[in-house]
Amino acid sequence: MAKGLIVQKFGGSSVANVERIQNVAKRVVEYKKKGYDLVVVVSALGDTTDELISLSEQINKHPSEREMDMLLSTGEQASSALLAMAIHKLGFEAISFTGAQVGIITDTDFTKAKIIDISADKIKDALKKKKIVIVAGFQGITRNQDITTLGRGGSDLTAVALAKALSARTCEIYTDVDGVYTTDPRIEPKAKKLPHITYDEMLEMASLGAQVMQARSIEVAKKFNVIIHVRSSFNKHEGTIISKEAKRMEEFVISGVTLNKNEVKITICDVPDKPGVAAKIFSKISEGGVNVDMIVQNVSHTRQTDISFTAPKADLSKVMRITKKAAANIGAGKVLKDEDIARVSIVGVGMKTHPGVAAKMFSALSKHDINIEMISTSEISISCIIKKKSGEEAVRALHAQFNLA
Ligand code: ASP
Ligand code: MG
Repeated sequence: MAKGLIVQKFGGSSVANVERIQNVAKRVVEYKKKGYDLVVVVSALGDTTDELISLSEQINKHPSEREMDMLLSTGEQASSALLAMAIHKLGFEAISFTGAQVGIITDTDFTKAKIIDISADKIKDALKKKKIVIVAGFQGITRNQDITTLGRGGSDLTAVALAKALSARTCEIYTDVDGVYTTDPRIEPKAKKLPHITYDEMLEMASLGAQVMQARSIEVAKKFNVIIHVRSSFNKHEGTIISKEAKRMEEFVISGVTLNKNEVKITICDVPDKPGVAAKIFSKISEGGVNVDMIVQNVSHTRQTDISFTAPKADLSKVMRITKKAAANIGAGKVLKDEDIARVSIVGVGMKTHPGVAAKMFSALSKHDINIEMISTSEISISCIIKKKSGEEAVRALHAQFNLA
């Protein structure tokens, strides 16, 4: 008997080779036997996407973004067809489709397109015929029939968007870890799997460096209340449920600690202390498409001040070029860069109602003699910029301080 629809997404490591694809096929078929309707979203095999990117770079350092999407979308097309074949081999009916075939319509922002609409007609037809439907993740098509991709990690977004469009009962995200952890277990072996986490916490963790799911996909899940279950494709353990409210005991003020080493700190020295200068600098940077984060301006007793901010490491040369030019234009001094930084953050909805969390964080760092260079906060997170070499130690110190083990 039909029990309802589940969307299952399998990441690149879950379909990295023949044996793993066969393993996914078995897993999917088990659910089919239990009476579920299934829509299965797949990523490209293993590191296929990275390999395609490096191929393109060898041919053209600045490839057209439209052609990039033509290229990258092939990875998921291949894995979806292979999974369908593996399911056929087990004696079950399955059919694979590209994003375009199932009507995932996007805007024309190649390499990071946004989904505008999903018709899903072909999926509904195939489900009616009792077939297991496989959809190539990470891709869509513009109204002009050009293939687009949804940004790195975009298969998560395909899965969440399809779960919403088809009113699925849950969206299962299969990956190579057992769920969302209190911190990266490679840094702190005492890290624990969280049974529940809220969309907001997961969003903070994703944007602060925990690489379990694509941040955009969680925004969409939050908007439409799609319940997500992150779990391992290599065992049957229950993973982490991501939903609006986490069912857990109140005492947990902090849910997780994250570490991000992919940022740089830029400092503009001797900025004239008068209205409009910050606007001038940061509008130039944003025109350049760089997302700056933590911004700190020192109090000045002279008429000059220093402004520091962080930016993604990948944008370093661009942001230095733009900032130097902007600094010269407003009569500021030198522009310094510091690549030797890491961001350590704590995340938790409990922060809203518990005072003293920041003080507790700072004292844990000070006990370990770790100097804080910058601080920023949101409603449910606190981040500190520290020296890169202290990153792992800071994570362990905070994990212990907030009793996460
Ligand atoms: N294959 C794409 C990537 O590696 C999309 C995905 O894995 O979700 O970014
Ligand atoms: Mg991938």
